Amino acid sequence: MTRIHWLIDPSDCPGFRRSELAAHEARGAQVHHTEYLHVEIPERYALVNITERVEEVIARSGILDGSCLVSAMHITAGIYVNDAESGLLGDIGEWLESLAPYGRDYRHHRTGEDNGDAHLKSFLTNHALTAPITRGKLDFGIWQRIFYAEFDGRRAKRIVVKVMGIS
Ligand code: ZN
Repeated sequence: MTRIHWLIDPSDCPGFRRSELAAHEARGAQVHHTEYLHVEIPERYALVNITERVEEVIARSGILDGSCLVSAMHITAGIYVNDAESGLLGDIGEWLESLAPYGRDYRHHRTGEDNGDAHLKSFLTNHALTAPITRGKLDFGIWQRIFYAEFDGRRAKRIVVKVMGIS
């Protein structure tokens, strides 16, 4: 199995360059607030804890009760919820690599691309999630964190965060 350097420590991740307000629509107490998180990971693969970035968007939205959609705007990245424990991050990386190894002769490569594994890894993590918001905060269990999974980095990418509810 190819040994891949997964960027497993969130504190080592380059984080997000900026957040862009895309829309803020309010009808009485009903609010829909949309931001794009812009990111460029300097590695091909990374698992990045973005929980705080999402919490910041929720705070800026002013929404107290509702839900939050977090979606990778790419077909070679994923969004998921799980533990931020470093051993588990390494385990997830190895598991993804075992199911969709880099360097295999994928049919997708007949188009001239080399990222067939990244599309399959994205499929395994899902591309988006919805999280509950109660009293203005993510209503998560104690160990739940939101991760952005990059499978074909070294380029500018976006994540859309859409918060919907009442203010
Ligand atoms: Zn591709």
